[in-house]
Amino acid sequence: MRLPEPGWKARPFTGRFQEIVIDTSFRDLGLSAELLRAVAEQNYTVPTPIQAQAIPIVLAGRDLLGAAQTGTGKTAGFTLPMLQRLAAKSNASASPARHPVRALVLVPTRELAAQVLDSVRNYGRHLRLGSTVIFGGVSFGPQVDTLRRGVDIVVATPGRLLDHAHEKTIDLRHVEILVLDEADRMLDMGFLPDIRRVLALLPAKRQNLLFSATFPDAIRKLAASFMHDPATVETARRNAPIELVAQVVHPVDKDRKRDLLAHLVQTNDWSQVLVFTKTKHGANRLAEQLHRAGIESDAIHGNKAQNARTRTLKRFKDNELRVLVATDIAARGLDIESLPHVVNYDLPNVPEDYVHRIGRTGRAGATGEAVSLVSAEDRPLLQAIERLIQRKIEQRVISGFEPTNLGARPQPQRQQQQRKGRQTQHAQRTQRQPQRVWPR
Ligand code: AMP
Repeated sequence: MRLPEPGWKARPFTGRFQEIVIDTSFRDLGLSAELLRAVAEQNYTVPTPIQAQAIPIVLAGRDLLGAAQTGTGKTAGFTLPMLQRLAAKSNASASPARHPVRALVLVPTRELAAQVLDSVRNYGRHLRLGSTVIFGGVSFGPQVDTLRRGVDIVVATPGRLLDHAHEKTIDLRHVEILVLDEADRMLDMGFLPDIRRVLALLPAKRQNLLFSATFPDAIRKLAASFMHDPATVETARRNAPIELVAQVVHPVDKDRKRDLLAHLVQTNDWSQVLVFTKTKHGANRLAEQLHRAGIESDAIHGNKAQNARTRTLKRFKDNELRVLVATDIAARGLDIESLPHVVNYDLPNVPEDYVHRIGRTGRAGATGEAVSLVSAEDRPLLQAIERLIQRKIEQRVISGFEPTNLGARPQPQRQQQQRKGRQTQHAQRTQRQPQRVWPR
C-alpha cells in the first residue's frame, strides 16, 4: 500500500497558485445521468482535481485514501460516486427492512455532518436514496424515528452513532461503503477509540474511503489497519489561500485587541467577519463585548447546543450577524460562500490552523482578507506561521492602537523603534485621547 510519506501534508503552502487545469468533464468520469443533472444544477462545470481523480476510483469499487483539505471539492469527490454505487442497487420499496444503512460517513463535527448531509441530498436529489444525519447535542428520539423508517445513507459524528449502536437503534451490519472524512481532525479530537469501535460493528467486506488533510503516523496506522490496497490521490486546495487572500498583521497590545477589532469592523464597515479565538470562553466573552459595543455578534463553539449553533450560523449566512466568533474546531468545515474577512483575534497554536482559517475567505475565486491581531506574546506563533507559509506577512500598525509592549527581548534596532514608538505614542496621547469604542 502506498501512503503519503510520514509528515506529509496537503500542500497549500508553497506560495504558488496551484489550481490544476484539467480538461476532464463530469461526463468523462462515468457518472450517471441523474448525478450529471444534479451537478449541472449546482452550476459546477469542471470537476476539481480531487473529483477528477477520486470519482473513477470510487466508482470502480476500490478503497481510496484521499489527501485533501476542505475547499478542494472532496465532499462531491466521494459523495457522487458513493451515490451512484448505492443507486445501482436501490429499491423503491417503502419497507424499512428494504432500506438498511448501506453507507456510513463519519465526520468530526456536527456542522460538517450537516454540510455533508446537504451535499448528499443535493447531489442525490434525482435518486431514490434516503439519508439522515446523526450527531449529539440534539434529542435522541427523532433520530430513532428516522432510523426506524429506514435510511440508506447515514452521516454521523462518532459519539452519538455509538450511542445508537449501544441502544440497538441502528444496525450497521449492512454497510457497504464507509467514509472517514477529515480523519486527522477526528484523531485530534480524541475519536480514535470510537472509530475503532465503529469499525468493529461493520461487515468485513466493504469499500473504505478515508480523507485527511495531514498524514501523521496515527492516521497511517489507522488506514493500514482496515483499508484494502487503497488507491491514493492527493491534491492541494482548489484555491491556494496564499494567492487569493490578502494577509495583514496588526501589531497591538493584548488588552487593546477587542477595541481594535471593534474599530476595524466599524471604520471599514465590514459586514461579514469570522473571528477566531483560542477558547470557547474567549469566544463567548468577545461576542458579548462586541454586541455591547453595538456590533451584532454571536459565538459558535462546541459547548453550545446544536440548535443554537445552527441558528447562529444561519443568521451569519443571512447577514443578520456582522461578526461570528468561533473556535477552530467549531469553524472546521464551515462552508460559508465568499466570506470577505477572517480575523485571527488569537493566533492558533498549531500553525497549520492558520491556513485552514484563512482558507475560509477567497473561496471559489473570490478574494478575501485575513487580518491577524498580534501582541508581543503572539510573536513566536506568528514566526511559526511565517515559516510554514514561507513568507513574511505585511505588518501595519493602526493609528491609535500602537503597541507599547514589543516583546521581552527586542533586537537593538527594534529597541530604537520601540523608544521612538513610545515617544510618538506619548506625543499622540498628549495631543488627543484615542476614541474608546469599547464600553467599560
Ligand atoms: P468541499 O471541499 O467539499 O468542502 O467543497 C468546497 C466548495 O466547493 C463547496 O462550496 C462546493 O459546493 C464547491 N464545489 C465542489 N465541487 C465543485 C466544482 N466542481 N465546481 C465548483 N464548485 C465546487
